[in-house]
Amino acid sequence: MTKERTQEVVILGGGYAGLMAAVRLANRRVPSRVTLVDAKAEFPERIRLHQVAAGQQLRRRSIPELLRGTGVEFMQGRASELDPEAQLVAVQTRDGQRTLRYDWLLYALGSQVDLSPIPGLHQHTLALDDRSTAKDLAARLERLGDGRVLIVGGGLTGIEAAVELAERFPRLAIELVTAGALGEDLSPAGAAHIRRVFERHGIALREHARIEEIQEGVARLAGGERIPFDICLWAGGFRAPGLAARAGLPTNERGQVIVDRTLQVPGHPEILVAGDAALAPGPGGKPLRMSCAAGQPMGAHAGDTLARLIRGQEPEPFRFSYILRCISLGRHDGLIQFVASDDTPRDRVLTGRAAAVVKEAICRYTLTSVEAERRLRLPLYWWLRPTETASYALPAGARTGVTTDV
Ligand SMILES: Cc1cc2nc3c(=O)[nH]c(=O)nc-3n(C[C@H](O)[C@H](O)[C@H](O)COP(=O)(O)OP(=O)(O)OC[C@H]3O[C@@H](n4cnc5c(N)ncnc54)[C@H](O)[C@@H]3O)c2cc1C
Repeated sequence: MTKERTQEVVILGGGYAGLMAAVRLANRRVPSRVTLVDAKAEFPERIRLHQVAAGQQLRRRSIPELLRGTGVEFMQGRASELDPEAQLVAVQTRDGQRTLRYDWLLYALGSQVDLSPIPGLHQHTLALDDRSTAKDLAARLERLGDGRVLIVGGGLTGIEAAVELAERFPRLAIELVTAGALGEDLSPAGAAHIRRVFERHGIALREHARIEEIQEGVARLAGGERIPFDICLWAGGFRAPGLAARAGLPTNERGQVIVDRTLQVPGHPEILVAGDAALAPGPGGKPLRMSCAAGQPMGAHAGDTLARLIRGQEPEPFRFSYILRCISLGRHDGLIQFVASDDTPRDRVLTGRAAAVVKEAICRYTLTSVEAERRLRLPLYWWLRPTETASYALPAGARTGVTTDV
């Protein structure tokens, strides 16, 4: 059924997914009034937070500036409640609570570093969540001089942060602790390159070590050993905000909303989810990885889908293929790990200065592509789409609105 009247669209979150969706939807010129809500007016640009933590002065981008001329209204405020039955969102703004009614909702609230797994994280660690936490870390490192920095987490965030900080603060004693092996989800050549870079920067590495508790100035390992530190950066994984689970939407244990192949919520086709907050089907039957690489294409697809739904057309499935993972290793080195369409690492890697240049170009593309779409009013953002859609089954319980372990 074609809906004739102007449709109310609310987009929650102005990160890579939400911003991309807003600009794409505006370019589709459908009869809609679009409001994008974000707690902060500054674009988070999370993929560069380790650079901010190293004290680099990066260009600050505001969300209203990135939306200029699109007709999308920006509302600064924290979404605090969602009522999917009444199609209402409560937003806490500086001027008090506002309630937004929507015909269509895009939930793109991203994720934050998960500080729940072990005791002591909130009190005694720092995390790369947004610009202000990254700047806080930079200021503390500057004051520290030649102290001990413990980084926990051997994923891409931990690796990128360790090298960036070691390059910028060579007097610091940096140690990275990981529960697995460094670079275990990369190819042997990729993992070997990261080890070489760690050695070059004198970053100490403790693998297959599980931290059980953080106390003031000390991390306690399973087995009782204690690692002293002056600053501990926790990079042990992300979780999505709890708003969706509180609203009764189907979520997994990390707070991600379970969506179908069109990025719609089962039982609530008027709600789409994109970016880190979505547990979405990916190539090879694996859920898409929390990443900008998948989140921004999901945002573009969600913008297109909202336009189709407003026109009364059927939504199309999201098609996505991984190509590479790009890891910055300071300002002069990097690792481009080529991957199969389902994110499995191939043998091929690109390293060194060439990789740093490619990584920087990709970081820039995330925003120049949005800028180009906004200015030229054309759907220019590109990503690789396979011809076949992902094979994926919703986990048991997904349709009942219960929190589901996946
Ligand atoms: C240091 C670091 C390096 C990274 N490097 C890479 C990389 O190289 N490649 C890659 O693919 N990925 C990388 N990532 C991951 C990537 O940043 C995330 O996957 C990506 O930001 C997810 O985009 P998103 O739009 O879903 O959410 P986000 O970018 O997290 O945006 C969510 C937005 O929602 C807002 N928000 C949250 N809660 C509320 C609320 N209740 N009310 C209102 N607003 C709210 C936030 O303010 C934020 O603006 C990196 C992450 C970090 C931390």
